[in-house]
Amino acid sequence: MGEHVHVRIGHGLSVSENGELIESSRCRCGATWTKAYRVDEDAPEE
Ligand SMILES: [Zn+2]
Repeated sequence: MGEHVHVRIGHGLSVSENGELIESSRCRCGATWTKAYRVDEDAPEE
């Protein structure tokens, strides 16, 4: 196996129970990634 440059193909979006936006992506080789984005809808006010 040589150098393989993963190509992350967007596979879908979902929302976790914590309210985080989960982005799923995968490569043709079978590798997968998940990336969580925090959606702060209720930002603390001071
Ligand atoms: Zn790959």
